[in-house]
Amino acid sequence: SPWTGFPHGCDPQRDAGRLRVNGALPRVSIVAPCFNEAEGLQEFYRRCSLACSDAVGGDHEIVLVDDGSTDATWPLIEALARADERVVGLRLLRNHGHQLASSAGLAAALGERVLLIDADLQDPPELLSAMMREMDQGADVVYGLRTGRDRESWFKRTCASLFYRSLSWLTDTAIPRDTGDFRLMSRTVVDAFLLMPEQHRFIRGMVSWIGGRQVAMPYQREGRYAGTTKYPFRKMVRLAIDAVTSFSTRPLRIATWSGLVFAFLALGVLGYSLVQWARGSVIDGWTSLMAATSLFAGVQLLVLGILGEYLGRLVQESKNRPLFLVGAVRRGDKLHAVSAE
Ligand code: UDP
Ligand code: MG
Repeated sequence: SPWTGFPHGCDPQRDAGRLRVNGALPRVSIVAPCFNEAEGLQEFYRRCSLACSDAVGGDHEIVLVDDGSTDATWPLIEALARADERVVGLRLLRNHGHQLASSAGLAAALGERVLLIDADLQDPPELLSAMMREMDQGADVVYGLRTGRDRESWFKRTCASLFYRSLSWLTDTAIPRDTGDFRLMSRTVVDAFLLMPEQHRFIRGMVSWIGGRQVAMPYQREGRYAGTTKYPFRKMVRLAIDAVTSFSTRPLRIATWSGLVFAFLALGVLGYSLVQWARGSVIDGWTSLMAATSLFAGVQLLVLGILGEYLGRLVQESKNRPLFLVGAVRRGDKLHAVSAE
């Protein structure tokens, strides 16, 4: 893909082509973005490996993407990769966020199917077997549907629920509610995903957009195995705005309509003021003047803000930068790195 940034001499998709000749592609790749996940990574690796030996008899790879962690995540990934040749480590040059780290992992995954999963064990890797069976029966995507989120905070659940409800009202692409990025995808779907170059990525929406047969698999979302959430409120808001702006231009239309409505209101107010003026009573009305002025100023700023969100994205897309830069790729003893470490 043109939007990926791998170190010189390392091109996972070309490598996949080379491997394909020998018929040696893993049946499934697990892709997990990791941002300061050192505490739970060993356990994550253990459960994924077990799940893969159940599902595909160990014919798998595990792609761990270090998203610019500041703890021991990368040394740990390297140790896992040295000990088990099925582990592939990617290290981004800086923190790019969950969506881009996942995209980097998807670009590097060679498997016939790819399971995208969080590294904090909130999504159970053991679901892989059942998901594989769904896919054997013809599904292109099997996505996890969160039935219970008891272990998450009330605040997080309320935000998520509000978000999914307004998203489905705003967008035309049917993005299933209460899903995350936890999903098994066929090679066809992953390759289609790799054709999509946008900088602001909302993966679950992009995969819905691709289409094919997409099947839900209900599961109970667990609490984190270790560590704390890497998604503070700020990042949740950013993801929500990315989701809306990448799948809908309806906010722009809402801006237009509210502009129209308020323009008509303004006409009414103008008429009223003229009548008052004709009657000679124009001293009163400071309150209504202030109210009208601040209301209109508010609406104008809101509309400008909405325009700005879209315009800013347009500027960023027009730069055509790679979405992320991978500083190092480790497969077993082989290390491709941008600079010697
Ligand atoms: N993550 C990441 N980069 C970030 C933030 C998060 O790669 O900047 C990873 C994180 O390590 C985890 C996944 O994305 O594997 C989901 O993050 P988290 O569990 O913190 O989000 P939550 O489940 O609380 O929504
Ligand atoms: Mg989590």
